[in-house]
Amino acid sequence: MNLVFLGLPGAGKGTQAALLAEKYNIPHISTGDMFREAVKQETELGKKAKEYMEAGELVPDQVTIGIVRERLAQDDCRRGFILDGFPRTIAQAEALEEVLQELNRELDLALLIDAPEEELVERLTGRRVCQNCGATYHVKFDPPEVEGICDECGGKLEQRDDDKPATVKKRLEVNRKKTEKMIDFYSSRGILTEIDARGEIEDIQEKIIRLIEDGLNDN
Ligand code: ADP
Ligand code: AMP
Repeated sequence: MNLVFLGLPGAGKGTQAALLAEKYNIPHISTGDMFREAVKQETELGKKAKEYMEAGELVPDQVTIGIVRERLAQDDCRRGFILDGFPRTIAQAEALEEVLQELNRELDLALLIDAPEEELVERLTGRRVCQNCGATYHVKFDPPEVEGICDECGGKLEQRDDDKPATVKKRLEVNRKKTEKMIDFYSSRGILTEIDARGEIEDIQEKIIRLIEDGLNDN
């Protein structure tokens, strides 16, 4: 099962991808998570990505395509994968097709996770992430049992720097047009499906599972 999750920042891609990856035992590949880890570890990649991320801009295609190419070639992707936050540009989408062709694979589905703008701002500004394991929470919509502490590992929850209001606005602006281009790209390939991401996390997860399993049964 080879999936791409599209949608604006805050739509719920990471939340849904993490649940689905666990259910189907396939890797959840988030370019945002990969870049954040690289920044934390102060690697060469982290140094290249940092300033773009802080400004709410996209990291250059060449860098981003390189890390996804490497990741998809790893063994654990053989049974499938969920790409979250990639591709975000036409160059990335075309490169992904090329990489998959080399690996003799193709995408089954590009799922657009869609929520209204006011909801996105509220989701992003209330998001908290575990500094240890990366689990995602929301202060109001998905709070941990103990405030500021991860349910999974006891790590400390913090707000991402780019989830502060000024950068949130910029990120939504940067991503809006790009996401539209991705919608057109995957519509033209006949694999785009849209899901309304308003509502409870569990209900949306069920809808996504139904959609995927119906799609697989049709083939
Ligand atoms: P993305 O990966 O698309 O940027 P996330 O999955 O990190 O978005 O979700 C953004 C924030 O919204 C997180 O704090 C998450 O807990 C919360 N969230 C995700 N899905 C929902 C939902 N259906 N309703 C309310 N909040 C949600
Ligand atoms: P995300 O976690 O998906 O919100 O991504 C956080 C940041 O990482 C973005 O604002 C970009 O700076 C960078 N990033 C993540 N994915 C990509 C991508 N596909 N192309 C370019 N930059 C990306």
